[in-house]
Amino acid sequence: MRYTIPDYYFGFKCTADQCEDTCCAGWQIGIDETSAQRYWKEKGPFRRTLRKNINFHGSVFRQQPDGSCAFLREDGLCEMVLQMGEEALCRTCHYYPRHIEEFENEREITLSVSCPEVAKLLMNRRMPVHFLHKKDEKEEIYPDYDPIFFDQLQEAREVMIQILQNRSLPASVRALLILGLAHDMQLRFNGGSFFTCQQLYSRYQSREAASYASEWLKGKEKNACQAVREENQQEVHVAAVCFAQLYELEHLRSDWEMVLREAESLLFKEVSENDRDSYRWISKEFGAYIMTEYPDWEIQKEQLLVYFISTYFCGAVYDGHIYSKVRMAVLCVWYIEELLKARWLRNEKFLDTEEVCEIVYRFSREIEHSDQNLEAAEKIPIPFP
Ligand code: SF4
Repeated sequence: MRYTIPDYYFGFKCTADQCEDTCCAGWQIGIDETSAQRYWKEKGPFRRTLRKNINFHGSVFRQQPDGSCAFLREDGLCEMVLQMGEEALCRTCHYYPRHIEEFENEREITLSVSCPEVAKLLMNRRMPVHFLHKKDEKEEIYPDYDPIFFDQLQEAREVMIQILQNRSLPASVRALLILGLAHDMQLRFNGGSFFTCQQLYSRYQSREAASYASEWLKGKEKNACQAVREENQQEVHVAAVCFAQLYELEHLRSDWEMVLREAESLLFKEVSENDRDSYRWISKEFGAYIMTEYPDWEIQKEQLLVYFISTYFCGAVYDGHIYSKVRMAVLCVWYIEELLKARWLRNEKFLDTEEVCEIVYRFSREIEHSDQNLEAAEKIPIPFP
């Protein structure tokens, strides 16, 4: 078995009751069978609380009216840990924020940015992320699993990460390149010639591909400046429709919709009939602000793209949805950027890393901790080709 972790993995430290949020609220925590049995068999004085706070039938912890775990105390500590010790934690609580993707003879372990401390760790990191590997003797066989396809996906993912970490190009150009690469890979996969993808790797890493993508993006910006009215209005409409897709997803925190409504109103709604290009100008001004006042966002964007690609791309081994996985990664970063743009507007055109971390971990909680949302996000078209 081969184990993979990102190189910042050991930098994580849970801040427990000092945490600015908590991982014990907003989602239902499932209990593994071994832990459930242990809780059921508990004999001591804590037995009554366990029976009251656990839904043994559904194997989940009950929640308080505000959606927090029944064991979460007002001081942010866990009543179960205080009474039974840390070893009593169920698998989910023990492992969080570690996230494990399972493949035949492979375990890819990441730290979820839905934890504020992980978001801080990743957003404050300037060096490109690398991945560390370890092997042991364990072996397993998955039925109906294609290890050759998995190897090819791993190779493609390495190429994508190399493209994403090429800091001589703007992050938006790098995102466009991996989208194009994944699109062409999907066509070859559908046509039964996936083994010919090697040619694509060098093509999408070439100078020509980079300058084509840059020119394409520059063309888009030029149109915005010249206010090619109809085209721009169409583009704003597409962006607004894409943003509104977030309302269709399952909401894990009760105040998430409020965050979305506020952002939507700042970006798309407060636009008068006579000023329908407003969103374009907001985006343009935000882009200029990022370049001069907050260049860290370029690196943070790279780290997030690498995070989403490294976590989800190889899942295509199970469904063959190569392009959707990359589209989702780019879309998630687009959503985060839109939410940041709105926050920047609300803050009288100011942004800092603290705000970025907050948006990142809150967005990740809503999307990554719901299988339903992850599945839906793969189907949302991105608001640009
Ligand atoms: S969200 Fe992260 S830092 Fe906060 S309590 Fe949970 S694991 Fe610890």
